[in-house]
Amino acid sequence: MNDHFTDIFTETACPTQDQLLAYVENKLSAAERHEVERHIADCELCSEAVEGLATISHKEQIPGWLRQAKWDLLQKLRKKTRKKRKEHYYLYIAIISLLILFLAIAVFWLYHFTSR
Ligand SMILES: [Zn+2]
Repeated sequence: MNDHFTDIFTETACPTQDQLLAYVENKLSAAERHEVERHIADCELCSEAVEGLATISHKEQIPGWLRQAKWDLLQKLRKKTRKKRKEHYYLYIAIISLLILFLAIAVFWLYHFTSR
């Protein structure tokens, strides 16, 4: 993997944009493919990038500089927002879990008292 896109928030470094494109086009070796797949499972940006690349049917018509510019922008945005978003995600899960728990208890007690 390329150290150029090393990211402290993910276990593995982001593959280069060309590597992701090669992944989408099935041009990677089995080992490289496995590594990219493992990374995508943990990285929202790259999974979205792969999804986006996969939907474009004529990849060779995309100017390289445009793809690279968009990629650089995404990298910059991601470094600012990723950690915050991940913390919020866990907070939402915790709040929703508590709400479901309280609702379940409330429903149980309502049912318990009204059925007698
Ligand atoms: Zn990534």
